[in-house]
Amino acid sequence: MPIPNIIAIDGPAASGKSTLGRRLADSLGYLFFDTGVMYRAVTWGALQRGLEIIDEAAVTNLAETAQIDVRPPSKDDGRACDVLLDGVDITWETRRLDVEANVSPVSAYQGVRQALASQQRRIGLRGRVIMVGRDIGTVVLPEADLKIYLDASVEERARRRYEEILQRGGQADYEQVLAGVRKRDEIDSTRAFSPLRAAEDAVILDSDKLNANEVFTKVEALCR
Ligand code: C5P
Repeated sequence: MPIPNIIAIDGPAASGKSTLGRRLADSLGYLFFDTGVMYRAVTWGALQRGLEIIDEAAVTNLAETAQIDVRPPSKDDGRACDVLLDGVDITWETRRLDVEANVSPVSAYQGVRQALASQQRRIGLRGRVIMVGRDIGTVVLPEADLKIYLDASVEERARRRYEEILQRGGQADYEQVLAGVRKRDEIDSTRAFSPLRAAEDAVILDSDKLNANEVFTKVEALCR
């Protein structure tokens, strides 16, 4: 069996998708593309410009006109990639808590999704790619050769996100992080357009029961 050319990894926040995707991309020599950073870039841009997040037309217009670039990392500071908005490096800005609190409502707008998904699809169709997100296997690249849906309990995912914030030198309250992850799950999975769900032909893995190494080993075995 040939190695899958297009690999889609979907799942809820902090389920381990990026860790898996990055490792797999290194191992196969493929491009790793995390689509979440594009939604985060639009959200940061909207906040920075002082747009009301509930102003769908203004936020959609921003998603349609802003130049979002996702490139290989130019700095060795823990980033998985560079994220640029209209030429400005906003990589770390996209991880801010105010971005995290507003990204799900922004991602629920149909026009925002259309603008970003068409760019993602163009990149994905070039092949030799691991694309990570919420709707890659269902909407962006339904023809993907391998689809993984990585899940974990909300408590475990919140614990990971909490530790990630502390590791980066930030401050956090576990209960608040848990509430934030729950809220994002709810909006992401109940929105009208491209809700978070596993594709019918996805391999579903639960990372509560598997550590990062075990998840990687399982998926690598599916690839080779
Ligand atoms: O994966 P990450 O946590 O960076 O994604 C941030 C947010 O972007 C998600 O909570 C979701 O609202 C949105 N997103 C999406 N579709 C994708 C990737 C991310 O709606 N393909």
